Parts: sequence; structure tokens; C-alpha cells
Amino acid sequence: MNAIILQKITAIVGAEFCKTDKEELHCYSYDGSKQAFLPDAVVFPDSTAQVAALLKLANKHQLPVTARGAGSGMTGGALPVQGGLILACSRLNKILEIDAENQIAIVQPGVITGEFQQELQKYKLLYPPDPASLKFCTLGGNAAECAGGPSAIKYGVTKDSIIGLEVVLANGDILNTGGRTEKGVVGYDLTRLFIGSEGTLGVITKIITRLQPLPECRETFLIQSTSLQQATQLVARILQNNILPCTLEYMDKTAIHIVSDMLPTPPADDIQAMLILEIDGHKEHVQGQVKQLKTLLQQEPHCSLQQAASRREIRDIWQARRSISPAAYKLNPNKTSEDVVVPRTRIPELVHFCEALGKRRNLTILTFGHAGDGNIHVNIMTPEQSAQNIDTVTTAKTELFQEVLRLGGTLSGEHGVGNTKSAFIKMELDKTSIKIMQQLKTLFDPNAILNPGKIFPTAK
Ligand SMILES: Cc1cc2nc3c(=O)[nH]c(=O)nc-3n(C[C@H](O)[C@H](O)[C@H](O)COP(=O)(O)OP(=O)(O)OC[C@H]3O[C@@H](n4cnc5c(N)ncnc54)[C@H](O)[C@@H]3O)c2cc1C
Repeated sequence: MNAIILQKITAIVGAEFCKTDKEELHCYSYDGSKQAFLPDAVVFPDSTAQVAALLKLANKHQLPVTARGAGSGMTGGALPVQGGLILACSRLNKILEIDAENQIAIVQPGVITGEFQQELQKYKLLYPPDPASLKFCTLGGNAAECAGGPSAIKYGVTKDSIIGLEVVLANGDILNTGGRTEKGVVGYDLTRLFIGSEGTLGVITKIITRLQPLPECRETFLIQSTSLQQATQLVARILQNNILPCTLEYMDKTAIHIVSDMLPTPPADDIQAMLILEIDGHKEHVQGQVKQLKTLLQQEPHCSLQQAASRREIRDIWQARRSISPAAYKLNPNKTSEDVVVPRTRIPELVHFCEALGKRRNLTILTFGHAGDGNIHVNIMTPEQSAQNIDTVTTAKTELFQEVLRLGGTLSGEHGVGNTKSAFIKMELDKTSIKIMQQLKTLFDPNAILNPGKIFPTAK
């Protein structure tokens, strides 16, 4: 990087907070997608003013800038594919305000999601979005990806919990969207535009979240099934029976196998699928819903219902569920993860298709995920990373996407496009949508400095 620009960057953040040594650069070169691209420098601003000064400078010199939270994204979103600056949000990590009376909070983007949730418990409040990565991912990364988690079935995804943002634009201007109120329809909804925009339209520097009262009680169940089809059909039937769980997660036999030692009791060999189901709310409401669930399960010959008996059992169940993605590497290190979504009633067809696809292409495919909202994680694995195997996986991925779209679904529910799916967006989006999105990108970022190479395959 040009020494004069580097000097100017150092003047903005201080020498200690601008890193250019190779070891440091490597630490910021990868994410959950397992690709690696080296940046030219990593900066650690600690205020909106510093972010604004950095972007103004970068824009003037047409230097790429990629915002980074925890780097846990699965689609390469935080990777500097064209070099330039990594703008690390780790020092923008303060909870600025918790307004318990109005049930809102204002946070900086580098706050860790799980730590925010823990802090809110002191106020008996809940910030529902709960990605499985919540112990390390950040609220900024969640906003930029529109992260979801098990609780989305009842409480929605990140966009449903954010009511306002402060964003620094590519030219250094500071934009405030939304506000502290639940409602607000003055002008376009720019808050929603930025959520899920993967750092391509601006750098988020403040987030206003809406909060919920912490539910009085929660009951956790495991549903084990000797029939994959019955288990997946049950997902839609539960909701059709007026049971609204706050989580409804699914694991297939392979997923169960890799985390079985973490579950409270090891499942029997003939178990083909498992659902984790939770119901929360006031005590009477929960009791009523549990009764309905038990009645429903009595009509399901291949499914058994088991209630978690202690906090420890609940912790073990969730530890097992959240460990599926990393544990899958034990099974096979060459793993591609997709997070497709289909309407709930089409889950059985999707899962059946994945089984057949694995057999046809000689690949190990495991499925698990947020069945309650139709968001199924499909992990495709090959024994080794040869050119031929990479081609086979790309073909399998294309066939999977075709099937998902045929079933009325979408290619990604929460992981976004990044650079790993950019070649596929044309399968889902029509020409007009892509053109409008590219025009928006140009409007916000005319010099294409913000996270270039993401979402659109042809963007600079
Ligand atoms: C084990 C594991 C489990 C996971 N489970 C889930 C899950 O259940 N649900 C789910 O949704 N995801 C899940 N993920 C994916 C990932 O954790 C989420 O996408 C998360 O939102 C990324 O947050 P991050 O802080 O790591 O962001 P990063 O990976 O650092 O960045 C993600 C994107 O956000 C942008 N960005 C970051 N900060 C800002 C900012 N301040 N302003 C503008 N753009 C910004 C980056 O440029 C990038 O495009 C999982 C990942 C792992 C490794």
C-alpha cells in the first residue's frame, strides 16, 4: 500500500491500531467459508468519526474496504477479495444504552451477540436472534447478513429486531435510518435496505434494537423418529395444529451421529431424525401448548416425545445442536455448507432429494437446521479436494439449488451470498431485480470500494 495513504490511515486511528505485518494480516484473511485473501492493512477504529474519516480517505484513493465482525460468515463476506483495508469492528464493542422501559437498546456493531443477550437478562429482556454462532459472532455481522437462528420461527430474524441504524457511507457521510420508535413510515425503509446488504452499501456503526420481555418459562423437548419422512412431515403438522414453538430444529441421522455423545442420552440405532422443540411464554400458555403437543405426538407411530428434565439436559441438547456444523469437519474436512429455505410443507421432498443426490453423486450429504422456518442446512462433503471432486460438488450444488427453486424456496436464508454464491444468484433473481440492486450499489458506492467482489459476480 502507498506509504502516504498508510501514513494518513495511521493518523486517523493511531499507529497501534493499524496493522500491516504479515502475521496480523493472516489473522484477518479467512472466515467460516475456509477461503483466504490477504488485506493490505487492518484498521481498528473506535468511533464513528474514525470510520467516517477512513472511508472518506479510502473513497478518495479508491481503496477497497471490507468491514469485519468476528469473521464467522459462511460465504466469504468478510474477506478482502480485492485486497485493501479490513475495517475490524472489535473496538466498536459497547452497549451504549438499554432503555428497559421502552424495550429498546443501542449498541455498537462489534458487540458479541451472546454477550448482549446475557446482559439483557439482568433487565428481564430478550433480543431474540440466536444464530448458532452467538458465542462469537457480532451484532454488526448479524445485521449485515440478516442472521437468523432457532427462535426465528416465533420471533423472526435480525431484520425483525432492528428498528434503526447509524451507517457511514462510502464517501464518509453519516446516515441515520429509522429511530427509537416501533413504528415509522416517513420515507423509504432504509434500515431494511442495509440489513442483509453484506457490507456493500455502508459500514454500520450503531444499531437500535427492539427487545422483548424475557418469557416466564420455557419447556424443551426432543422428538426422536424412526422415520425421516414422518419427522419432516411433522414440522408443518405441529404448526397446523396451532402449536407455535419458539424453536423447532431438525437433524438427520448423520447429524445426530456426529454429536450423539453430547446428547443427554445416546439415541437408539434405528433413529433416523430428531427434532428439538421448545415452547415459551406464560406458564398457563406453555402448559396448554405442551398438552396439545402430547396429544399430537400420540398420533405419530414412529415418533417419541422426551422432555428435558434439567437445565443440564437443555444445555447438552443445545450444545449438540450448535456443534453440528463444526463437528461435521470430523466426518470430512472438505465440506460445503448451504442454507437453503423451502416452504415448510416441502421439507420432506427436499430432504429426500438430498439423500438421493448424495447416492447419485457418491457424496456424503447431511441435513439439519431451522426446520420451523424451512431453513435447512445442507452440508455436502467429498473425501478429498481434487479438481474432479470440486466439479462434482459444484454440479451437486447447482442441482440442489434447482430443486430448491422448483420447490418454491430460496438459495439462502441467513448466510448471504458473499463470493461463494455470487455465481448462482441469477438462478433465483430476475434481470430487473439484479439491475435495480446494482443501481442501488452504484448510488451508495459509486467507486465500488465497499466490499467489492461480493453478491454480484460482475461488480468491480
Ligand atoms: C459454527 C457456526 C454456526 C453458525 N450458525 C449460524 C446460524 O445459526 N444462523 C446464521 O444466520 N448464521 C450462522 N453462522 C454464520 C455467521 O455466524 C453469521 O453470518 C454471522 O452473522 C456473522 O457475524 P460475524 O460477526 O462473524 O460477521 P463477519 O463474518 O465478520 O462478516 C459478515 C458480513 O458482515 C459484514 N459486516 C460485518 N460488520 C459490519 C459492519 N459493522 N457494517 C457493515 N457490514 C459489516 C462483513 O463485511 C461481511 O460481509 C454460523 C457460523 C458458524 C461458524
